[in-house]
Amino acid sequence: MEQFFKKMIEIIGEDPNREGLLKTPHRAARAFEFLTQGYRKDIKEVLNGAIFTSDNDEMVIVKDIELYSMCEHHLLPFFGKAHVGYIPNGKIIGLSKIARIVDMYARRLQVQENLTKEIATTLQTVTGALGVGVVIEAKHLCMMMRGVEKQNSSMKTSTMLGTFRSNNSTRAEFLSLLR
Ligand SMILES: [Zn+2]
Repeated sequence: MEQFFKKMIEIIGEDPNREGLLKTPHRAARAFEFLTQGYRKDIKEVLNGAIFTSDNDEMVIVKDIELYSMCEHHLLPFFGKAHVGYIPNGKIIGLSKIARIVDMYARRLQVQENLTKEIATTLQTVTGALGVGVVIEAKHLCMMMRGVEKQNSSMKTSTMLGTFRSNNSTRAEFLSLLR
């Protein structure tokens, strides 16, 4: 990957051998590796056994999970917050694991719609929850720095599964708790 970044620096008309850029291919490659580490994670490792038996059947919500991802169309970052809720059905998940699931999918090349859905379906699968809701609000640098250059627009996506989809009052409760 370092060779690719060196080549890219040349192609845009810069001198990869000038002092400030000398170690840039190395640093950029490490950064890109970090930003795509989600490809090298799997859900078993991420959960690390943190699924517990519980008779709680009330909605659990984790709000404002910081999220940094990369748009798969432009390789530019998008970033914002994820809000995740679920209603347990005999099993609960360690709260920090929800944030780790968000990271596992965010640290890949993504579109926001798919990211939202992947987080929701994974949480549904690993907990067997009665319902899952995921809302993501994010700003996309590919919109802000280029293209239409709309600095203040943000994109909101949601995925509702199970009772969050079928039951209006459950969905309404979730959405009102996010406000
Ligand atoms: Zn984009």
